[in-house]
This record gives sequence, structure tokens and C-alpha cells, in this order.
Amino acid sequence: MTKVFNVAKVREDFPILKREVNGKTLVYLDNGATAQKPQTVIDALTKYYTHENSNIHRGVHTLSQEATSAYELTREKIQGFINAPEKESVIFTKGTTDGINLLAFSLGRDFVQEGDEIIISAMEHHSNIVPWQMLCEQKKAVLKVAPINQRGEIILEEYKKLLNPKTKLVSIVHISNTLGTINPIQEMIAMAHEVGAKFIVDAAQSAPHLKIDVQALDCDFMVFSMHKVFGPTGVGFLYGKKELLEVIPPYQGGGDMIKTVTFEKTTYNELPHKFEAGTPNIAAGIATSAAIDYMNQLDWNAVHLHEKELLDYATAQLKLIDGLRIIGEAKEKASVISFVIDGVHPYDVGVIIDKMGIAVRTGHHCTQPLMDWFKIPGTIRASFAFYNTKEEVDLLVVALKRALQMLR
Ligand code: PLP
Repeated sequence: MTKVFNVAKVREDFPILKREVNGKTLVYLDNGATAQKPQTVIDALTKYYTHENSNIHRGVHTLSQEATSAYELTREKIQGFINAPEKESVIFTKGTTDGINLLAFSLGRDFVQEGDEIIISAMEHHSNIVPWQMLCEQKKAVLKVAPINQRGEIILEEYKKLLNPKTKLVSIVHISNTLGTINPIQEMIAMAHEVGAKFIVDAAQSAPHLKIDVQALDCDFMVFSMHKVFGPTGVGFLYGKKELLEVIPPYQGGGDMIKTVTFEKTTYNELPHKFEAGTPNIAAGIATSAAIDYMNQLDWNAVHLHEKELLDYATAQLKLIDGLRIIGEAKEKASVISFVIDGVHPYDVGVIIDKMGIAVRTGHHCTQPLMDWFKIPGTIRASFAFYNTKEEVDLLVVALKRALQMLR
């Protein structure tokens, strides 16, 4: 039996939710941009700098060994979190953007040649467009875009038509940060594999909402950022199939990624260190363990039900507002709602409701081509986490109505 999700109790774990903004209790609905952190993550950061601060993978002294063990423990926890077959397949990065750039460089060097094709979709974040454009320019390869329908779903028949033996890579977002669409990624991966293409999943928005299983998905690579998964900024992960990570070249050269260096030749370190040059964000890497522990102690059936209820309730309430149109009405959707309102600019609405303590995102959400496709300058986006409540949805609706009275 599914336990009832105790949202009031969960909110106690996130100290920032108690603060006031402009004289009102904060209503934080910008989780798609970054999620808030539980006290345990904040404590882990402080504990590292207070008790353990030292560099990793190089010192023989106790502090360095403790920090190295804590950092490597995080790798194991991420392995479990995404069900990777081995910890060597889990690479620390700075975040999703860094992971995609790593792949564009390292996969791009030998794997993509003139005339080859790379497929993305019409709903990608700029970080999953620009690195591929740069690679295509450099290699004279061709970037293809899988189209979407009016509901904001990838049209699978059209995607299928794009796939052919020249397709080397497909890189697709799991959950759209702008539309909330949950893409049928497993099916899309299987289709790409039929033509021999490798598949990269941008899991920036799915890691905080869905149970991730890279083996069940059979993706070749996956990237995500911890700051969206209730963890610290400055750290993220790249998962790759080991046999692929072994053959692609490193991204950056420097300390830690080498086995031997002479002025004539360098040999590279084993996985995963081959892709981890230089001193990383050690504090954030270690505090990531606390975020994963936090995720693991939640009842995820209950979380999913709660987030679905929030999505359905907010969608129904928002639709009652005169002139409001939701952008992105996919059948499979996460708790992200983008909308526009007739006669008002999203930015003005965002500024006014901030005065009432409500944090939403306004603008193009780093998906300008998607905004162009919908022929809109931007949207107002409310993106919910498990600590949000129906009462906060009500406050959003009241604030929007007041803003409209002021603006119209
Ligand atoms: N991909 C998606 C779908 C996102 O939502 C984001 C961030 O909003 C990114 C990529 C980039 O993530 P980061 O800025 O953490 O590198």
C-alpha cells in the first residue's frame, strides 16, 4: 500500500522554504531552474570545509584519504541511483552542460565525420543544441531536428524517418524543461540502435522526478546536474557504457587524468579518471551523497502521486484564468507548466508576482527555437517539486489574477 505523502514534514527539511520574500512566505515554483537543498546537504558542505577539506586522489595524509573516500562513495551512490552496471561508468562533471560538451568533443573527434548526421529534437535546451551545432560546423556534419506536434510531443513517425545509416548520434531530452513533456525515450533509443546510432539522454529534468535506470533504458550516455536533484551546484554526472568510454579520447588534459607523462608522450588514466582532469568541486561532490541519501529515503510512489496531483490541480486551476493558454499539453507530462496570458508579457507578470513572494521563471527557458515554433516570445513557467503544495498553487492563482488586474 502506498504511504500518504507527508508534505508538511518534508518541507521541514528545506530551511529556505521558511524564509520571506518581499514580506510574504516564499512560494518557490522555479524548481526546473534549480531545486532547493535539504538541511543534510547544507550540513554536508559545511562539514567538509570544517573537518575534511583537502585535495583528493593524491595525498597520503589522513585528510586527503578521508576526502577521497567520501568523494568516491558519491560515485557509488550515483551508480546505484541510476543503476549503472559499474562505478567506472560514472564520471563527475560540472553539470549537464559540461557533460554534453564533453561528449560533443570526445565522441565528436573520431566518431563523427563529414556528411554524418546528428539528431536532436525541437524541444531541446540550448545546451543540447549549441555543442552539436559547433561539432557539425567543425566536421561538416548535418544536424537534424525531430519535429513536435501542437501538444508538445515528439512525432515518432517523423523521428523514425530521420534515422538512417548516416545517423551517428541522437541526443534527446528525457523531460522538457519548458513543456514538461516526458519523451518515450526507451522506444526512441531502441529505434536509434536499429540504425547503429548512439543515444545520449539529457536527464537534467528527469533525474529529480523519475526513477532512472540506464540499463533498462539501454542508453549509451546520460547526463544530469545535481543542483536540480536537491544537491549542490557545480557538480553533475555523465554515465556512459564502459566499452564506449574506454575508446573515446579524454575531454581535457591535466592532473589526475594521466597515468604517465613525459615531454614526448602521455598515457591516460583508467576509467573513470581519464575524463576527470584537475581538481573538481570536491565539497559539492561529497555533499551529493547527502542529496542521494535524501532521495533514497523518500517513498517514490507517494512522491509521484503527489506531483501528479499538483500537476492536475494546477493545470485545472490555471485554465480557469481568463485568456491563459498552457503551452505543452503532452499526454505524458511531469510537474512543469508553461503558460502565456493574452495581452500581458510573461516578464511583467513574473516581476509583479515576485512582489507577492512567488518565484516562477519567465522567458524562453533556454529553448529559443521551441519558442519560435510556438510563435511566442516566452512563457511563465511554474515547475513543482515534491515539497510544493496545493495551497501554493492557490497562492499562485490569486497572485496571477491580481497581476492581471494591474496589467490589463
Ligand atoms: N538540459 C535541460 C533539459 C535543462 O533543463 C537544463 C537546465 O535548465 C540543462 C540541460 C542545463 O543544465 P545545467 O545548466 O545545470 O548545465
